[in-house]
Amino acid sequence: MRIVPKVAAMQKLARRWKRAGVKIGFVPTMGYLHAGHLSLVREARQRVGKKGVVVVSIYVNPTQFAPTEDLAQYPRDLKRDLKMCHAVGVDIVFTPSDTEMYPGRQNRKSEIGNRKSFSTYVVEENLGRGMEGAARPVHFCGVTTVVAKLFNLVLPDVSVFGQKDFQQAAIIKRMVSDLNFPVQIIVAPTHREPDGLAMSSRNKYLDVEQRAQAVILFHALQAAKNAVVKKSLSAAKLKEDLRRFITAAPLARLDYIEFFDPETLLPVAQVKRGAHMALAVYFGKTRLIDNAQL
Ligand code: AMP
Repeated sequence: MRIVPKVAAMQKLARRWKRAGVKIGFVPTMGYLHAGHLSLVREARQRVGKKGVVVVSIYVNPTQFAPTEDLAQYPRDLKRDLKMCHAVGVDIVFTPSDTEMYPGRQNRKSEIGNRKSFSTYVVEENLGRGMEGAARPVHFCGVTTVVAKLFNLVLPDVSVFGQKDFQQAAIIKRMVSDLNFPVQIIVAPTHREPDGLAMSSRNKYLDVEQRAQAVILFHALQAAKNAVVKKSLSAAKLKEDLRRFITAAPLARLDYIEFFDPETLLPVAQVKRGAHMALAVYFGKTRLIDNAQL
């Protein structure tokens, strides 16, 4: 396994593989890896085979965090991440720094007019409006920008994303189609703890009581699934029922619940089997998300 911290070196390697006809599988992450990330790595390996290469990027991307969010606290443990990558047969871990990825960006205001400072962003204008996009206005622009950059550096044939971030995966698929990136996007299932809580690097923020109650997100998804098995229900009524269900966990503070069409991500007024549900819930300052097809 090789660790590549430099943008130029990453791109050079990728171009060499491309010329040699080696298939490249890619899993972008923000590190602090867990079994969910590793399931994406395994999926990438399956797609490119033994002769292909699997690249994992570990980069806590500052442009997808608002100034009020948890960029500075975001958990990091590169040593542990590298061990985990090695154990699952990753070939390359790409670990760029902020100055490699966004030269000059830190001082954007004072850098206006400076030809060397980073100033180009990728914006998806449709699928990113609701849910996470509404709650976190700068988030998806940061995500599409960094993923576009990473695709240009890693030149993947296949890139694997998690269903855990359903809206993100939909936006990436749209970006790839709209901007003609020559990469296949695979969306892999959400990996869960034994009690059903979706694995997330942010679960580390939870104290013991919050962790015990955090399973309410999964239970809310299950309750919604059960409610629409045989009949369709008004979205407003189901939201109200689930709001009450969730606030029965005293440490939970609901941010949103949405029922939507999985293709357009537009909200539906009537919820029936096959509709998608997503929710975001705060425990203290920690914001957890989950989603499922009903
Ligand atoms: P992150 O490091 O949180 O940016 O996530 C990197 C990738 O891992 C994204 O494609 C996520 O959707 C995916 N991911 C995060 N948590 C899970 C999980 N529990 N199961 C499957 N994939 C996940």
